[in-house]
Amino acid sequence: MDAPVIDLLQLYPRDMNIYGDWGNVLVLRKRLQLRGYEVRLHEYNPGDSFPEQVDLIVGGGGQDSGQNKIQADLLGLGGRLKELADDGVPMLAICGLYQLFGHRFTTHTGEVITGIGLLDAETVGGPTRLIGNTVLESAEFGTVIGYENHSGLTTLGPDLTPFGTVTKGQGNNGQDGTEGARYRHVIASYLHGSLLPKNPAVADYLVRHAAERRYGTFNDVALEVPYEAAARSDAAARPR
Ligand code: GLN
Repeated sequence: MDAPVIDLLQLYPRDMNIYGDWGNVLVLRKRLQLRGYEVRLHEYNPGDSFPEQVDLIVGGGGQDSGQNKIQADLLGLGGRLKELADDGVPMLAICGLYQLFGHRFTTHTGEVITGIGLLDAETVGGPTRLIGNTVLESAEFGTVIGYENHSGLTTLGPDLTPFGTVTKGQGNNGQDGTEGARYRHVIASYLHGSLLPKNPAVADYLVRHAAERRYGTFNDVALEVPYEAAARSDAAARPR
């Protein structure tokens, strides 16, 4: 019997893919393959045609200049991405893409980069960058570990749930203790690192929902990945 296929789409790998974000794609692919899925990886850059079948979407961070480059194209995709999110497609949007999943990012120079409003969130560039190792507590995922590097300060709308609460680091804005955002099966976060190699529970949430949405079931094999626990405790113990 042919292996079940999962179509994984990486948004804007050319312009939005920094601080190890590519590792998220590698982890999603590997954890699916280890459970018997064939992964078709689609790389979507501005002007490309959007694939017919998409089960899982991931996109990374970028400089303000990278965000500018993809802005017009992303606005064209906005309706499609919102439909897919509302239809339960799992997505991971990191940092620069997280900001543009919100309504807009007004940079520290006053330039407005318009987002798609998939998330009720708004970002304004601050005078200093928030940089360092980060730890969150999340009701869904437990302790989440990562690394942040952003100037944008994000405020969530009243009905949007954060991804977690910061116990080390700055998070969305360095003020309200929130980090990231959750909507349907969408996870948005400032955390690079990459996020998913350090946080397998988050990776498995995404692959589970991709498989269940497409096939109705998930081949839920427990994975024993060497060094995973040691890497997590090492990362959590690092100073800011
Ligand atoms: N350019 C955005 C900021 O500085 C996003 C940075 C990033 O993706 N790391 O806030």
